[in-house]
Amino acid sequence: MSRLYANGWIVTCDDGDSEHASGWLLEDNGLLSAVGEGAEPEADERIDLRGAVVTPGLVNTHHHLYQTLTRARAQQADLFSWLRELYPLWSGIDAESEHAAARTGIAELALSGCTTVFDHHYVFPRGREGLIEAEVQAARELGVRIVASRGSMDLGESDGGLPPDELVEDMDSVLADTERLVGALHEPGAGARVQIAVAPCSPFSVTKRLMSESATLARTLGLVLHTHLAETVEEEAYCMQLYGCTPVEYLTDLGWLGDDVWCAHCVHLSADDIADFASSSTGIAHCPTSNLRLGAGVAPVRDYVDAGIRVGLGVDGSASNERSDLLFEVKQALLAARGRGGPGAMTAREALRLGTRGSAAVLGRTDIGSLEPGKCADFAVWRTDGLELGGAEDLPAGLVLSAPHRVDRLVVGGEDVVRGGALVRVDEAEIARDHRAQARRFAQ
Ligand SMILES: [Zn+2]
Repeated sequence: MSRLYANGWIVTCDDGDSEHASGWLLEDNGLLSAVGEGAEPEADERIDLRGAVVTPGLVNTHHHLYQTLTRARAQQADLFSWLRELYPLWSGIDAESEHAAARTGIAELALSGCTTVFDHHYVFPRGREGLIEAEVQAARELGVRIVASRGSMDLGESDGGLPPDELVEDMDSVLADTERLVGALHEPGAGARVQIAVAPCSPFSVTKRLMSESATLARTLGLVLHTHLAETVEEEAYCMQLYGCTPVEYLTDLGWLGDDVWCAHCVHLSADDIADFASSSTGIAHCPTSNLRLGAGVAPVRDYVDAGIRVGLGVDGSASNERSDLLFEVKQALLAARGRGGPGAMTAREALRLGTRGSAAVLGRTDIGSLEPGKCADFAVWRTDGLELGGAEDLPAGLVLSAPHRVDRLVVGGEDVVRGGALVRVDEAEIARDHRAQARRFAQ
């Protein structure tokens, strides 16, 4: 079964940044088989996009889906005070609430053009089973791809860590559970719908031993590796006090830097750190809204891109960015870069590339992130006939600069996830009702 999506402005995000202003996409069995403009190829079905902009499906590289249950708390707190206020609430998480939370976060992401979701879950209260399974189930119900990480914390307050002792686990159970989840859920190779990553939470909540063993396990199993890093100046001071070095020196000592690793935030990297990230091909999940919300600072993303570092975008958890809107994050990346470096610091197309091709590269995926023959048919169709884009001749730039927008159609592996601006497989209102019922349990 082949489908031709015709009469659209196709932004490919390929190596040459090709665009086809009156273009088409040919999808066959879940993959793109041709992209171009002019004479249209034959297909079993022809869909007229009526001048819409088509972009690669956006890819989110950092989130904590469970945090949709605890929005708008600790409203003026810095990272550490925010965490200390929220940890006790998060100890209430179970599979049912995780499922409701994940459906909400993933629905928001899908409606903002996201086709692949990475989630960093690191809160595993004792005796609560099935948390990762619950979020994978949510992704399957909605129809998007997920890279779910088995996160971890094993450095509790009494050992000098930040989280309360009741929220930390022991190293052996973390590693065993990671292996179990890989056996049960992980799909290697191109076109994977579900993958597992290894993601100890941060230098201030994980022991050196678990950081190191996590890297060994990930490399043995061929999984990607992730953590939070250099988010705030307080984190740097904490690292100096606990380990006598900066966060990046700490990761370097642990043998963590590499092309299978990406770190969230990296707001505070020195020139040497940037050179180390570039030479080791370590990636970065840039989360500008969350960083601004917590007053953590603004990452020098222009420098990272110029140094050749793999950079993608993340909305981060919904307790520090109350919206899981990834197209808005594309715009935020542009605004934050310009706030720091002036009007020439980032173009609309560069920002879009970060959220698509850049994010895919950060997750180690070459099968998604651009619209090229042989890649997964994952794309977002954005209407251009509404109020917001009137007067914009450069429609892709207008799309980014006037974000947020609700996606009109979202296609994952050739299948519709959103059509006519509505989720195809699950009722949005039902997701919201279920989520509110679960969130009430987390009210203070
Ligand atoms: Zn985070």
